[in-house]
Amino acid sequence: MAALAFAAGCSHETHPTAASWHASSGSGSYPGITPSAGPSASSGRPVSRPVSSPPPSSPAPASPSASASSSSPAPAIIRSTGGATVALTFDDGPGPDTPTILKMLREQGVKATFCLIGVNVQEYPQYVQEIVKDGHTLCNHTWKHDEALGKKSADVIRADLQKTNDEIHKAVPDAQIKYFRHPGGNFTPAAVQIAADLGMKSLGWSVDPSDWNIKKWSGQQMTSHICSNVRNNTKPGSIVLSHDGGGDRSATVAAYKTLLPELANKFTLVAMPV
Ligand SMILES: [Zn+2]
Repeated sequence: MAALAFAAGCSHETHPTAASWHASSGSGSYPGITPSAGPSASSGRPVSRPVSSPPPSSPAPASPSASASSSSPAPAIIRSTGGATVALTFDDGPGPDTPTILKMLREQGVKATFCLIGVNVQEYPQYVQEIVKDGHTLCNHTWKHDEALGKKSADVIRADLQKTNDEIHKAVPDAQIKYFRHPGGNFTPAAVQIAADLGMKSLGWSVDPSDWNIKKWSGQQMTSHICSNVRNNTKPGSIVLSHDGGGDRSATVAAYKTLLPELANKFTLVAMPV
Protein backbone atom coordinates (compact mmCIF):
# COMPACT_ATOMS: atom_id res chain seq x y z
CA MET A 1 0.00 0.00 0.00
CA ALA A 2 2.74 2.37 0.90
CA ALA A 3 4.22 2.13 -2.53
CA LEU A 4 1.16 3.75 -4.03
CA ALA A 5 2.07 6.96 -2.31
CA PHE A 6 4.72 7.51 -4.93
CA ALA A 7 2.22 7.45 -7.69
CA ALA A 8 2.07 11.14 -8.31
CA GLY A 9 5.68 11.66 -9.00
CA CYS A 10 6.10 11.17 -12.65
CA SER A 11 5.21 14.25 -14.47
CA HIS A 12 7.63 17.08 -13.97
CA GLU A 13 11.01 17.60 -15.34
CA THR A 14 12.22 16.33 -18.63
CA HIS A 15 15.78 15.28 -18.63
CA PRO A 16 17.40 15.53 -21.95
CA THR A 17 17.52 12.04 -23.15
CA ALA A 18 21.18 12.12 -23.84
CA ALA A 19 21.93 12.68 -20.22
CA SER A 20 20.75 9.25 -19.37
CA TRP A 21 23.17 7.58 -21.68
CA HIS A 22 25.93 8.25 -19.33
CA ALA A 23 29.26 7.04 -20.38
CA SER A 24 29.54 3.73 -18.71
CA SER A 25 33.19 3.30 -18.59
CA GLY A 26 33.54 0.93 -15.72
CA SER A 27 32.57 -2.63 -15.73
CA GLY A 28 30.28 -1.90 -12.84
CA SER A 29 27.69 -0.32 -15.02
CA TYR A 30 25.70 -1.08 -18.07
CA PRO A 31 27.38 -0.29 -21.30
CA GLY A 32 24.82 1.04 -23.67
CA ILE A 33 24.28 -1.58 -26.25
CA THR A 34 22.41 1.04 -28.05
CA PRO A 35 20.82 0.26 -31.32
CA SER A 36 18.99 3.26 -32.58
CA ALA A 37 17.20 4.43 -29.49
CA GLY A 38 20.05 6.20 -27.85
CA PRO A 39 20.84 9.55 -29.31
CA SER A 40 24.45 9.17 -28.50
CA ALA A 41 26.54 6.30 -29.51
CA SER A 42 27.18 3.71 -26.91
CA SER A 43 30.11 4.03 -24.68
CA GLY A 44 32.21 2.21 -27.13
CA ARG A 45 32.41 -0.91 -25.12
CA PRO A 46 32.80 -3.60 -27.69
CA VAL A 47 29.95 -5.98 -27.61
CA SER A 48 29.99 -9.17 -29.47
CA ARG A 49 28.12 -7.99 -32.47
CA PRO A 50 27.55 -4.30 -32.80
CA VAL A 51 24.32 -3.76 -34.61
CA SER A 52 23.85 -0.40 -36.12
CA SER A 53 20.13 -0.64 -36.35
CA PRO A 54 17.75 -3.17 -34.97
CA PRO A 55 16.69 -5.42 -37.78
CA PRO A 56 12.92 -5.60 -37.47
CA SER A 57 12.58 -9.15 -38.48
CA SER A 58 15.48 -10.21 -40.60
CA PRO A 59 17.84 -12.70 -39.09
CA ALA A 60 20.88 -10.53 -39.30
CA PRO A 61 24.10 -12.32 -39.92
CA ALA A 62 25.85 -13.18 -36.75
CA SER A 63 29.38 -12.44 -35.93
CA PRO A 64 31.53 -14.97 -37.67
CA SER A 65 33.52 -15.54 -34.54
CA ALA A 66 30.51 -16.79 -32.69
CA SER A 67 29.30 -19.31 -35.14
CA ALA A 68 30.14 -22.84 -34.42
CA SER A 69 26.95 -24.38 -33.32
CA SER A 70 25.09 -26.64 -35.61
CA SER A 71 21.50 -26.67 -34.55
CA SER A 72 21.04 -23.35 -32.79
CA PRO A 73 20.17 -20.29 -34.78
CA ALA A 74 23.08 -17.98 -35.39
CA PRO A 75 23.69 -16.26 -32.09
CA ALA A 76 22.51 -12.72 -32.33
CA ILE A 77 21.56 -10.36 -29.59
CA ILE A 78 17.92 -9.42 -29.69
CA ARG A 79 17.45 -5.68 -29.37
CA SER A 80 13.99 -5.25 -30.77
CA THR A 81 10.72 -7.10 -30.49
CA GLY A 82 10.80 -7.24 -34.26
CA GLY A 83 7.38 -5.71 -34.65
CA ALA A 84 5.20 -2.90 -33.41
CA THR A 85 5.08 -4.30 -29.92
CA VAL A 86 7.05 -3.16 -26.89
CA ALA A 87 8.61 -5.49 -24.34
CA LEU A 88 9.18 -4.45 -20.75
CA THR A 89 12.00 -6.35 -19.08
CA PHE A 90 12.82 -6.39 -15.39
CA ASP A 91 16.26 -7.45 -14.21
CA ASP A 92 18.19 -8.48 -11.13
CA GLY A 93 15.32 -9.99 -9.19
CA PRO A 94 13.46 -11.50 -7.79
CA GLY A 95 13.55 -9.23 -4.78
CA PRO A 96 11.35 -7.50 -2.25
CA ASP A 97 9.87 -5.19 -4.88
CA THR A 98 8.97 -7.98 -7.28
CA PRO A 99 5.47 -8.62 -5.87
CA THR A 100 4.59 -4.94 -6.24
CA ILE A 101 5.74 -4.91 -9.85
CA LEU A 102 3.79 -8.11 -10.47
CA LYS A 103 0.68 -6.62 -8.95
CA MET A 104 0.88 -3.56 -11.16
CA LEU A 105 1.41 -5.68 -14.25
CA ARG A 106 -1.55 -7.85 -13.27
CA GLU A 107 -3.77 -4.82 -12.77
CA GLN A 108 -2.88 -3.52 -16.22
CA GLY A 109 -3.11 -6.94 -17.84
CA VAL A 110 0.47 -6.60 -19.02
CA LYS A 111 2.95 -9.43 -19.58
CA ALA A 112 6.65 -8.76 -19.22
CA THR A 113 10.00 -10.52 -19.09
CA PHE A 114 12.01 -11.11 -15.93
CA CYS A 115 15.77 -11.64 -16.02
CA LEU A 116 16.52 -13.55 -12.86
CA ILE A 117 19.69 -13.85 -10.81
CA GLY A 118 20.31 -17.34 -9.43
CA VAL A 119 21.08 -16.36 -5.85
CA ASN A 120 17.92 -14.27 -5.76
CA VAL A 121 15.90 -17.16 -7.12
CA GLN A 122 17.34 -19.21 -4.28
CA GLU A 123 16.19 -16.58 -1.79
CA TYR A 124 12.77 -15.85 -3.26
CA PRO A 125 11.58 -18.96 -5.09
CA GLN A 126 7.98 -18.07 -4.36
CA TYR A 127 8.29 -14.93 -6.48
CA VAL A 128 9.55 -16.99 -9.39
CA GLN A 129 6.45 -19.11 -9.03
CA GLU A 130 4.32 -15.96 -9.10
CA ILE A 131 6.11 -14.65 -12.17
CA VAL A 132 5.47 -17.89 -14.03
CA LYS A 133 1.91 -18.18 -12.78
CA ASP A 134 1.18 -14.73 -14.14
CA GLY A 135 2.41 -15.75 -17.57
CA HIS A 136 5.56 -13.68 -17.78
CA THR A 137 8.67 -14.79 -19.63
CA LEU A 138 11.82 -15.87 -17.83
CA CYS A 139 15.37 -14.93 -18.68
CA ASN A 140 18.62 -16.19 -17.18
CA HIS A 141 20.67 -13.30 -15.76
CA THR A 142 23.46 -15.53 -14.37
CA TRP A 143 24.06 -16.92 -10.93
CA LYS A 144 25.31 -13.82 -9.14
CA HIS A 145 25.53 -11.08 -11.71
CA ASP A 146 29.17 -11.50 -12.62
CA GLU A 147 29.68 -8.77 -15.19
CA ALA A 148 32.89 -10.41 -16.36
CA LEU A 149 31.42 -13.87 -16.76
CA GLY A 150 31.52 -13.76 -20.53
CA LYS A 151 35.28 -13.44 -20.50
CA LYS A 152 35.79 -16.56 -18.43
CA SER A 153 36.29 -20.06 -19.72
CA ALA A 154 33.52 -21.82 -21.57
CA ASP A 155 33.20 -24.30 -18.73
CA VAL A 156 32.76 -21.56 -16.17
CA ILE A 157 30.18 -19.76 -18.29
CA ARG A 158 28.24 -22.93 -18.98
CA ALA A 159 28.28 -24.00 -15.33
CA ASP A 160 27.02 -20.59 -14.23
CA LEU A 161 24.15 -20.49 -16.69
CA GLN A 162 23.22 -24.09 -15.99
CA LYS A 163 23.28 -23.56 -12.24
CA THR A 164 20.98 -20.58 -12.64
CA ASN A 165 18.56 -22.54 -14.79
CA ASP A 166 18.67 -25.41 -12.32
CA GLU A 167 17.78 -23.07 -9.48
CA ILE A 168 14.86 -21.65 -11.46
CA HIS A 169 13.71 -25.20 -12.12
CA LYS A 170 13.86 -25.96 -8.42
CA ALA A 171 11.28 -23.23 -7.96
CA VAL A 172 9.25 -24.09 -11.06
CA PRO A 173 10.17 -27.51 -12.45
CA ASP A 174 8.71 -26.99 -15.89
CA ALA A 175 9.67 -23.35 -16.30
CA GLN A 176 10.73 -22.35 -19.78
CA ILE A 177 13.89 -20.29 -19.87
CA LYS A 178 14.41 -19.16 -23.43
CA TYR A 179 16.44 -16.00 -22.89
CA PHE A 180 19.77 -15.00 -21.48
CA ARG A 181 20.88 -11.51 -20.61
CA HIS A 182 24.50 -10.98 -19.69
CA PRO A 183 25.02 -8.79 -16.63
CA GLY A 184 25.89 -5.29 -17.68
CA GLY A 185 25.05 -6.18 -21.24
CA ASN A 186 28.61 -7.46 -21.52
CA PHE A 187 27.75 -10.14 -24.02
CA THR A 188 30.69 -11.99 -25.49
CA PRO A 189 30.56 -14.34 -28.44
CA ALA A 190 31.35 -17.20 -26.08
CA ALA A 191 28.55 -16.35 -23.67
CA VAL A 192 26.06 -15.85 -26.48
CA GLN A 193 27.05 -19.17 -28.05
CA ILE A 194 26.86 -21.10 -24.79
CA ALA A 195 23.49 -19.58 -24.01
CA ALA A 196 22.33 -20.65 -27.46
CA ASP A 197 23.64 -24.15 -26.83
CA LEU A 198 21.52 -24.19 -23.68
CA GLY A 199 18.47 -23.12 -25.66
CA MET A 200 18.53 -19.45 -24.77
CA LYS A 201 18.51 -16.43 -27.04
CA SER A 202 20.55 -13.45 -25.94
CA LEU A 203 18.33 -10.57 -24.99
CA GLY A 204 19.60 -7.02 -25.14
CA TRP A 205 17.56 -3.85 -24.86
CA SER A 206 17.03 -0.59 -26.65
CA VAL A 207 15.75 1.68 -23.89
CA ASP A 208 17.66 2.06 -20.64
CA PRO A 209 16.28 4.56 -18.14
CA SER A 210 19.24 3.78 -15.87
CA ASP A 211 17.07 2.92 -12.91
CA TRP A 212 19.99 0.82 -11.75
CA ASN A 213 22.06 3.93 -11.20
CA ILE A 214 20.89 4.70 -7.70
CA LYS A 215 24.12 6.51 -6.97
CA LYS A 216 23.29 9.12 -9.54
CA TRP A 217 19.62 9.65 -8.85
CA SER A 218 17.27 8.80 -6.04
CA GLY A 219 13.72 9.33 -4.89
CA GLN A 220 11.59 11.71 -6.88
CA GLN A 221 14.46 12.68 -9.14
CA MET A 222 15.00 9.07 -10.14
CA THR A 223 11.29 8.54 -10.67
CA SER A 224 11.05 11.57 -12.93
CA HIS A 225 14.15 10.50 -14.77
CA ILE A 226 12.81 7.01 -15.43
CA CYS A 227 9.50 8.40 -16.62
CA SER A 228 10.93 10.96 -18.99
CA ASN A 229 13.51 8.58 -20.39
CA VAL A 230 11.05 5.82 -21.06
CA ARG A 231 8.50 8.24 -22.51
CA ASN A 232 11.04 9.85 -24.79
CA ASN A 233 12.67 6.71 -26.08
CA THR A 234 10.07 3.99 -26.25
CA LYS A 235 8.76 3.33 -29.72
CA PRO A 236 7.40 0.36 -31.63
CA GLY A 237 9.84 -2.51 -31.28
CA SER A 238 11.48 -1.23 -28.11
CA ILE A 239 12.81 -3.49 -25.43
CA VAL A 240 12.83 -1.50 -22.21
CA LEU A 241 15.28 -2.33 -19.45
CA SER A 242 14.26 -1.76 -15.84
CA HIS A 243 14.94 -3.45 -12.53
CA ASP A 244 12.73 -5.15 -9.99
CA GLY A 245 15.68 -6.34 -7.91
CA GLY A 246 19.24 -5.61 -6.99
CA GLY A 247 18.67 -2.59 -4.80
CA ASP A 248 16.08 -0.10 -3.70
CA ARG A 249 13.55 -0.10 -6.53
CA SER A 250 10.98 2.20 -4.98
CA ALA A 251 11.62 4.81 -7.67
CA THR A 252 11.11 2.21 -10.39
CA VAL A 253 7.90 1.08 -8.74
CA ALA A 254 6.71 4.68 -8.51
CA ALA A 255 7.60 5.37 -12.13
CA TYR A 256 5.82 2.33 -13.48
CA LYS A 257 2.73 3.13 -11.49
CA THR A 258 2.35 6.02 -13.90
CA LEU A 259 4.15 4.63 -16.92
CA LEU A 260 2.36 1.30 -17.16
CA PRO A 261 -1.09 2.63 -18.00
CA GLU A 262 0.46 5.18 -20.35
CA LEU A 263 2.51 2.61 -22.20
CA ALA A 264 -0.32 0.12 -22.28
CA ASN A 265 -2.47 2.78 -23.91
CA LYS A 266 0.06 3.65 -26.51
CA PHE A 267 1.62 0.29 -27.35
CA THR A 268 0.93 -3.40 -27.31
CA LEU A 269 3.07 -4.57 -24.42
CA VAL A 270 4.32 -8.11 -24.73
CA ALA A 271 6.40 -10.66 -22.92
CA MET A 272 9.22 -11.94 -25.09
CA PRO A 273 7.84 -14.99 -26.86
CA VAL A 274 8.80 -18.46 -25.69
ZN1 LIG B 1 21.51 -6.95 -14.12
